[in-house]
Amino acid sequence: MRRDFRSESTNDTFIKEANGSAIVVGASLSGLMTGIALSRAGLKVTILERVGATPRSGAVLQVDSGEIDRTKTAKFLRKLASNGIRSAEAWSSIQLRLRTAAEADPRIDLLYDTRVQSVHQDKDFVWAVTDKDETFRGDILIGADGHRSTVRRLVAPHKPNATFAGYLIWVAIVDENDIPEKSRPSLHAPKFSMPDGIGDFLLGTIIAGADGSTALGNRRLGWAWYDNTQNDLLRRLGCVEEDVVQHSLHALDIPEQTLIELAEKASVRWTQPWLDAILHSIETRNLVGTPIAEYVPDNLVKGRIALVGDAAHLPTPLTAKGFNASLQDAATLAECVAKRIRGTSAAKTLLEYESLRLKNARQIVQSGQSFSRSFGR
Ligand SMILES: Cc1cc2nc3c(=O)[nH]c(=O)nc-3n(C[C@H](O)[C@H](O)[C@H](O)COP(=O)(O)OP(=O)(O)OC[C@H]3O[C@@H](n4cnc5c(N)ncnc54)[C@H](O)[C@@H]3O)c2cc1C
Repeated sequence: MRRDFRSESTNDTFIKEANGSAIVVGASLSGLMTGIALSRAGLKVTILERVGATPRSGAVLQVDSGEIDRTKTAKFLRKLASNGIRSAEAWSSIQLRLRTAAEADPRIDLLYDTRVQSVHQDKDFVWAVTDKDETFRGDILIGADGHRSTVRRLVAPHKPNATFAGYLIWVAIVDENDIPEKSRPSLHAPKFSMPDGIGDFLLGTIIAGADGSTALGNRRLGWAWYDNTQNDLLRRLGCVEEDVVQHSLHALDIPEQTLIELAEKASVRWTQPWLDAILHSIETRNLVGTPIAEYVPDNLVKGRIALVGDAAHLPTPLTAKGFNASLQDAATLAECVAKRIRGTSAAKTLLEYESLRLKNARQIVQSGQSFSRSFGR
């Protein structure tokens, strides 16, 4: 089936008000924020996501970088993502709020199970072709398709891949009720901890429960353990090939022996409550090993196509800036396209976005590279 978005939608009342149309590839945090921001700027937006709509889990993210949000859209996205109150949130809670907002927006079409296979452009339009041989056409196309971006291959053919940084991060989120009462943190315990390890590095975060409750017994403990001793395993299991990260190490694929060694190491290195949270994750196989990659962009735009989020810039999570930079990308892009994107002005408008974001995007990745160079193997 071939689907021409623009010609199908000409009777849509929103299209009459709209500035034009955008295709967004990827419906994770960046794709959803970009879709919402572009809709606020008056565009009709189609978001294409390769996986299904089933909720996924993820790490704990710092959603308040301390950065001043200069535009109304940035303020709006920050409030939506953080629920207006918290500085750290589970990835899944942020994603749910953004997704609910996108689904409620009549200017946004959110399509799951739709993998973009190729992207093309000419002087008038840009279009994406999917694995079901559908074609989606728009005035601009935004690649929010993460660290292994398909869209980046077209925008930066000279530098299409992010590079493995030489370590992984084990991540999990545990209900505090799942660890012994004596190990649970008090209500006054710091929300962020970086306990000392022996050559390793742990970031522990106390966040609200899935229902938003911060009462004792209802909270969750997010932990992220930086580990540079698993590179042979990552290569053996195909998670990393040459210098390119292919996929995460999912719980069911982690060898039993690796889990035993991890539990032994944890017992020597980490204090409570993190030790019991980690041991519970290991016992229940509720953890993921994420190989870390980095990408310093040379450019963010080619013609009618632009990159946002991890597709555009990939810093080590230690910087705690990936999400925040994605939010600024979405807000800046919306400011630029609100002016006009039809006809030949699209490429000019996206170049303005690039000129506003490229320096910052490069800096955030570079700010984490000295850590990666000393820690990675
Ligand atoms: C362990 C960890 C901790 C982190 N902590 C922080 C933090 O504290 N603060 C912070 O600011 N940032 C943090 N980050 C970074 C942050 O999570 C990301 O920068 C942010 O979520 C933006 O990701 P994204 O949406 O650009 O990419 P992704 O989440 O990778 O999403 C890409 C999406 O595109 C889809 N896709 C890919 N290819 C295609 C295709 N061909 N067709 C259709 N869809 C496609 C994928 O299925 C996916 O849904 C952390 C990251 C990690 C790994």
